[in-house]
Amino acid sequence: MLNLLFPPICFACDQPLQIGEKDFCSSCLQAITNEEHHTCPRCTSNVGQYTDVSKGCPSCQNVKLYFDFAYRLGLYDDVLRKVLLRAKFGKLPSTGEALGRAWAKADRERIAKHAPDVVLPVPLHWWRKLRRGFNQSQLFSEAWAKELSIPHVPRWLHRVRATPPQTMQSPTARRENIVGAFAVSTGAKFKGLKVLLVDDVLTTGSTLSEAAKMIKQAGAKEVIGVVVGHRG
Ligand SMILES: [Zn+2]
Ligand SMILES: [Zn+2]
Repeated sequence: MLNLLFPPICFACDQPLQIGEKDFCSSCLQAITNEEHHTCPRCTSNVGQYTDVSKGCPSCQNVKLYFDFAYRLGLYDDVLRKVLLRAKFGKLPSTGEALGRAWAKADRERIAKHAPDVVLPVPLHWWRKLRRGFNQSQLFSEAWAKELSIPHVPRWLHRVRATPPQTMQSPTARRENIVGAFAVSTGAKFKGLKVLLVDDVLTTGSTLSEAAKMIKQAGAKEVIGVVVGHRG
């Protein structure tokens, strides 16, 4: 009955959904989940089909990154960028939840092969979360927990200080800016685990790496980073 009064619409383009479509219309879903590039398994940058990435790619070979692998859903561009911005700044968490479901479903296979034990998001500082109402990365990590049937442990890591937005800064400034921003919470049990760490956007990887560093220092065996968008 509700569907007759308010037919469900696509979270990306607002067009009414057809029978069999859920959350996104098929053309937006295709745009979001169809990765066209080969990517570096260490930093998610675009690489050529035949680039040797066994030790990373030209963008990351000389950079220390504390996560062991990194995967992206796609480039931070076009439809994916639009949906991410809606997920981040929308008043309701539903867009982020829908994007998380589509992402975890589309990328399930390559993440499942790492057999992560637990999943958590890169935390937001509490006041930013309070202002926004939710942490969009936590909506994504929730979707991953559900898709892989593994424990969701968002409280195991927290942000000890707020940092200015990373967007406007140079790569070096970004790395310095984020050092010491995260801490492992009392009661967290990372020791010996493979940890899936979720964030929304990766640019230089410094935020994801700093969070991974804390998790590794707490004894984790492996950190697999996953991000929705790579901003090249
Ligand atoms: Zn659409
Ligand atoms: Zn790379």
